[in-house]
Amino acid sequence: MILGVIADDFTGATDVASMLVRAGMRTVLVMGVPTGPLPDAEAIVVALKSRTAPVDEAVADSVAALHCLQAAGARQFYFKYCSTFDSTPDGNIGPVAEALLNALGSEFTVACPALPENGRTVYRGHLFVGDQLLSDSGMRHHPLTPMTDANLVRVLQAQCHGKVGLAGHEAVSEGVQALQERFQALQEEDVRFAIVDAVDTAALHTLALSCADLPLVTAGSGLALGLPAVYQAKGWLQPDRHAARLTLAGGPAAVLSGSCSQATQAQVADWLLAGRPGFQVDVRALAAGEPHAQHILQWVDSQGEAAVLVYATAHPAEVQSIQAELGVQRAGQLVEECLSQVALGLMDRGVRRLVVAGGETSGAVVQALGVQTLRIGPTIDPGVPWTQAEGRELLLALKSGNFGGTGFFAKALALTE
Ligand code: ADP
Repeated sequence: MILGVIADDFTGATDVASMLVRAGMRTVLVMGVPTGPLPDAEAIVVALKSRTAPVDEAVADSVAALHCLQAAGARQFYFKYCSTFDSTPDGNIGPVAEALLNALGSEFTVACPALPENGRTVYRGHLFVGDQLLSDSGMRHHPLTPMTDANLVRVLQAQCHGKVGLAGHEAVSEGVQALQERFQALQEEDVRFAIVDAVDTAALHTLALSCADLPLVTAGSGLALGLPAVYQAKGWLQPDRHAARLTLAGGPAAVLSGSCSQATQAQVADWLLAGRPGFQVDVRALAAGEPHAQHILQWVDSQGEAAVLVYATAHPAEVQSIQAELGVQRAGQLVEECLSQVALGLMDRGVRRLVVAGGETSGAVVQALGVQTLRIGPTIDPGVPWTQAEGRELLLALKSGNFGGTGFFAKALALTE
C-alpha cells in the first residue's frame, strides 16, 4: 500500500483511480468511509460524497477516511477534487484540505486542479476551461457549485484559515529544483497552500516529482498520472503494465441508464438506432404504484440472450413535465428505485456485466447490489473504467452523465467480450 486517495465524489473517484491504473498502480475503490479491513492494493481510493455535504460532515468523513488509509499503511495521501475546482460558496475544499494537513501534522501542501488533456489548465493562478476562464465557462451556471471567480488563490483563500500563495509558471517550467525552491520560499512566508500553475501534462509530472516528500497533495485527477513514476524512483513501486487487467470477461450483459445528460441522450439514441433492444421506464406508472420493475424484467426475459438497455433517459421537456407533476426528488427517487430493482433482477438472471449511466443512478444501483469495493480495470473512454466488484463475478462500468462517446454502451460491452 503506497497511496491513499480521498475523493470528494463518486465519479471523481473512478476518474482518479483510472489515472493511477493507467500509470501502472494496482488500484481499488472503496465506497464511503471504509468500515472493514481494506483489500490488498498499491493505491486505495475512498469515494466520498463530500463536495456538497455540510462542511462539518465533509471534514469528519475525510478525516475518518484518512485514518483508515493511514491504518492500511499508505505512505502518501491525495485529496482529489474536480478539475473545475467545484465548491459551494461555503466551500469544502479549503476546510477539508486544512483538516487533512492538521491531522497529518504537516505544514504545507499544493493545490492544482489542472487536467490539460481535458482542457483544464492553471496559469498565474487562474483556472481555464479550454480557452475560457472558469468564471466565463458553463460552470458559472452550475446548479449546486456555481464558479464565478477563476482566481484560485482568492477562491481557496476565502475557504482557509492558513495562507494561500502561488507557485507560478516560471518555477514550474524551470523544473523540479526551481519548483521546490519556490515551495520553500512560500513556506518561509507562512504559506500553507500553494496553487500551482500547470498548462500542460509535463507540468503535472514536474509537480508530482516536486511533491515526492509531501505527506499530502491536493489536486484534480491529473496529478495522479505522475505519481507512480515518483514511487518507482523511491523504490516503492514496480509499475505494472497489466495493472488494469481484470480476471474475468464475457457473460450476459445489460445497460441501465438513469441519466438525462446530453452525452447519455446521444448514447441511448445510438443504441436504439442500431436496432438493439431497449425499454423506456414509464415514470408515471411508477408513481401510480404499478409493479413496473416486474414488467420490465418480463420484457427482459422475452429478449433471450441479447444485451438489453433499460433507460429512464428522456428529453428535457419530458423530464420537466414529470418533475412538475411529481416533484424533482420524488421523480428521481422513483427512477433510482426502479433501476435498482431491475439491477437485482438482472443479477438473478445471470447478468455479469453491467453498464450504468448517471452518477446518482450508479450510486443507487451499486448500493442496491451491496457492492462496497471495486477493483479498477481498463479505461473505456476517458474517466470511465471497467471495474470488478471485489470478490464477485461482476463487472461494472459506472458512467457519469456527460462522459463517454456516442457509441459508449456497445464499446464498453465489446471490450469485455
Ligand atoms: P447524471 O450523471 O447525468 O447527472 P444522475 O443519475 O446523477 O445522472 O442524475 C439523474 C437523475 O434524474 C436521477 O436522480 C434520475 O433518477 C433522474 N431521472 C432520470 N430519468 C428521469 C425522468 N425521465 N424523469 C425524471 N427524473 C429522471
